[in-house]
Amino acid sequence: MTSAPILHDLFIDGREIAADDGRRFEVHSPHDGTLVASVASATVADVDRAVAAAERAFREWSALTAYEREAAIRRATAHVRTCAPEIARLMALEQGKPLNQGRSEVIGACETIDYYAAEAVRIEGTINPTEHRNFRSFVVHQPIGVCAVITPWNYPVSLLSWKLGPALATGCAVIVKPTTVTPLSPAAFCRALVAGGLPGGLINVLPGPGSTLGDALVRHPRIAKIAMTGSSATGKRILASAASTLKKVSLELGGQCPAIICADADLANAAKVAAYKGFRNCGQSCSSINRIYVHRDVAAEFLDRLRSEAEKLTLGDPVANPSVDLGPMATADGVETSREHIADALAHGARLVAGGGSPKTPAGPSGRYLMPTILAEATAAMRVMREETFGPVIGVAAFDDLDAAVRMANDSDYGLVSYLFTRDLAAAHRVSEQLEAGTVCVNHGAVNTNYGPYAGWKDSGYGLELSRRAVFEYLKVKHIKIQL
Ligand code: NAD
Repeated sequence: MTSAPILHDLFIDGREIAADDGRRFEVHSPHDGTLVASVASATVADVDRAVAAAERAFREWSALTAYEREAAIRRATAHVRTCAPEIARLMALEQGKPLNQGRSEVIGACETIDYYAAEAVRIEGTINPTEHRNFRSFVVHQPIGVCAVITPWNYPVSLLSWKLGPALATGCAVIVKPTTVTPLSPAAFCRALVAGGLPGGLINVLPGPGSTLGDALVRHPRIAKIAMTGSSATGKRILASAASTLKKVSLELGGQCPAIICADADLANAAKVAAYKGFRNCGQSCSSINRIYVHRDVAAEFLDRLRSEAEKLTLGDPVANPSVDLGPMATADGVETSREHIADALAHGARLVAGGGSPKTPAGPSGRYLMPTILAEATAAMRVMREETFGPVIGVAAFDDLDAAVRMANDSDYGLVSYLFTRDLAAAHRVSEQLEAGTVCVNHGAVNTNYGPYAGWKDSGYGLELSRRAVFEYLKVKHIKIQL
């Protein structure tokens, strides 16, 4: 797919430099397995260099007025928008996301950062009445300092922007650690922000492994905050490691999201949304619909509609066919888990309604392409109904009683997003309140919006992202009391 592999270095203090020990790792195309890039792998010594650069930048950046920061951020995102085609190309090469979807992701990320730039000028403090005439009492917010941003591979730019936005707007400096699967597009995004005028050192990028480099960031005494998106297991490890330095931590973690479809639902809409949220990005999304509970009276019609939505989706080379619906899966492990979940469901009596494996005509030579798969008559014993598949696979079970469906939806260690489809206003309110998830979507799949807080319940998160509330994840509170 690529002519020559890209050579990619660390980005510290606005400069591209090799890793301290010269080590590199490779990125391969999920479409055809070719070598896409050779990337510098940051060491613990590089963390110290990046922290020093970030501290210098933090001192100047946090001293600007919020209005100055807003203007600088908006100038930078205007430049990033012009780089969107190239950043999307890198994302397609490393992650397998179709080019057009990658471009939308980059533009959406700029919108998120702009949203937070506007918030910078609205961070208010309070003035308290005091117990004595000579006292004055103010509560103010100050930026927390240097933040480490640790991101996954499924939405490598979008999930970065959810952290960069509030960090930059509040006056923080950041060190970004993308995953070794997708280091290129987030690094290009960060470099474009600096090329667009943000100070070198304000955003540093250290690609490398989580177990060593990520852990060094989490334990570093001069990093004040960790913002991470990834699996629940990794999130728990990070929270434990961060305890030694009492860092502020926010974690957006895994999901195993249920959808309940009532007998009165608009089935055409429910099937469209379920196909979109189950199969987009090959199901590699924390908010993917993994399991569906549909009222028995409409189960057959719903399954027919869902199958026809699934069969409309096109698979293909994400670079050569920019508007294809699905590219290859990003990782071989992801293909393996999806196949295991399909085999486990079939062995336990599920009925295959669509998909089930690779397409008959291979969409690419890598074996990473999977057809959107629907498994009916699924039960709670099946892995697809309990574990995060993170692949294009949906299990469907019928229900007779809505209360029982809510209990099944809630019977999970995860609590990220729950979906409900009904025309009954009372059921919409009542069930939304009962669902154990940080986000409930009724009759749609537009999960993430800049204005809505995204907070995982149970094993799905710690703290929150998005919305105005996220700025307080990057701020410290100070009470100033003055005796006149
Ligand atoms: P992962 O947990 O394997 O890795 C996430 C990041 O953490 C990577 O950058 C990794 O290098 C780093 N890391 C790993 N071990 C570390 C350690 N000990 N210390 C510090 N950093 C460490 O996740 P992944 O496979 O890249 O992404 C998929 C997961 O992310 C899924 O579980 C998915 O549900 C979740 N996710 C959640 C959200 C959300 O908003 N809730 C969004 C997208 C993805």
